[in-house]
Amino acid sequence: MKAKRVFSEEHRRKLSEAKKGKKRGPRPEWVKKKISESEKGVKKNCVKFNAGRFKKGHIVKHTPETIKKIVEARKGFKMPREIVERIAEKLRGRKRSEETIRKTTEGLKKYWAIHGKYEGRRSRKSREWSSKVIERDGNKCTKCGATEKLHAHHLIPWNENKELRFDLDNGICLCISCHMRKHALNQDHSHLEGEKNSSSKLTEKDVLKIRKMRKMFKIPYWKIGSYFGVKQEAIRKIIKKETWRHI
Ligand SMILES: [Zn+2]
Ligand SMILES: [Zn+2]
Repeated sequence: MKAKRVFSEEHRRKLSEAKKGKKRGPRPEWVKKKISESEKGVKKNCVKFNAGRFKKGHIVKHTPETIKKIVEARKGFKMPREIVERIAEKLRGRKRSEETIRKTTEGLKKYWAIHGKYEGRRSRKSREWSSKVIERDGNKCTKCGATEKLHAHHLIPWNENKELRFDLDNGICLCISCHMRKHALNQDHSHLEGEKNSSSKLTEKDVLKIRKMRKMFKIPYWKIGSYFGVKQEAIRKIIKKETWRHI
């Protein structure tokens, strides 16, 4: 055992001053032993939250009665605003580890193997098609020459021809107002509504797919969101049935 050293007040202050901003090295063995010994007594009196009972990512399965009780107890409870904001702040700068990305990609690949890749309106493929069309047309509206709020419009509509959906020759760059006029003339409002309303960027089929992805493959919200080109919050709402309740 080390002999206990006694420092003067002045010396201690100097030490703490010197230590400021410095990172601590690993704890020496004897310190670890002391800590584990002191914790032994603590464990008798209080239960540490989730002290090694569950592994990370473990999904707790409750009986229907327990779920009912939990739902009942939570009714009317609202997470305080500041806590929500604190959590959001923490998540904002979060980086996913390579391990997490690898795992979720594996989940996606399994899904693709069964159901095929998503090639809907908001798919990566579709977004890439749009930006290619806009770029090809010189980043300006082919009707009025505007350079802002540009869309790629399908000459032969999306719903009419599956093969031409991602054909560059079937696309034309239009600004938002020319695009709206075009669709108003065509009497086809469905496409416009889709662009104006972010929640209807998805079709019923997409929504069912999203729920299936979550249920069967446990793919995280952010991954599903990036896959369909919508925010993870929108995915959460779909899965919790806060939106699209009718299906
Ligand atoms: Zn269009
Ligand atoms: Zn225009």
